[in-house]
Amino acid sequence: MPTVDKQKLLDELREKILRDKVTPKLKETATQLVFGEGNPDAELLFIGEAPGKNEDIQGKPFIGAAGKFLNEMLAMVDLKREDVYITNIVKYRPPNNRDPLPDEKAAFLPYLQTQLEIIQPKVVVTLGRHSMNCFLPDLQISKIHGQPKRIRINMRNQAERIKQGETGVSPESSHGVAIVIMPLFHPAAALYNGGMRQTLIDDFAKIPIVLEKINS
Ligand code: URA
Repeated sequence: MPTVDKQKLLDELREKILRDKVTPKLKETATQLVFGEGNPDAELLFIGEAPGKNEDIQGKPFIGAAGKFLNEMLAMVDLKREDVYITNIVKYRPPNNRDPLPDEKAAFLPYLQTQLEIIQPKVVVTLGRHSMNCFLPDLQISKIHGQPKRIRINMRNQAERIKQGETGVSPESSHGVAIVIMPLFHPAAALYNGGMRQTLIDDFAKIPIVLEKINS
């Protein structure tokens, strides 16, 4: 699909989220929707948790301290923000940066699935436990960070399961989209923790190797 069409589809999806009045309570307290940005043809899609204060003000994902660290790690593997696509599960800032609620994550998952279907990335890099758990609900980030996992997932089913408080990937996932998930720690969690920071940098360095394998 040519880039221009993908961008148009993403713009339409953004409008649809607004029209559908997703998480009206969060919308009320947030400044604006933070839909995501980057190259619609990206091989790499980064998914964080939810916008913070700076993101809420500027309408762009990962532009605060965690975003600066993300940019640094991208540069370490010779990538710029414009080469990749960056978004969040929940697209409105939760008040006082609280964790997104299961209902809020579930409400946005079908739209995230459409975003994925439009971009068709080769690798989805999940940043933090919330993002990882939407794709790999039964796994622990402390155990599997930096290890790529090939899965099939139907996030529309997954959204229903999260709403019902169920764990595990839906049995119907075998009909879903095939993707490689690269689970990483969240850059904000690693910012001020020396050990975790180095682990995240080391895990990040594996991303080009994973991509190369997929492309070869
Ligand atoms: N943390 C996130 O998870 N997402 C952002 O966009 C910024 C900080």
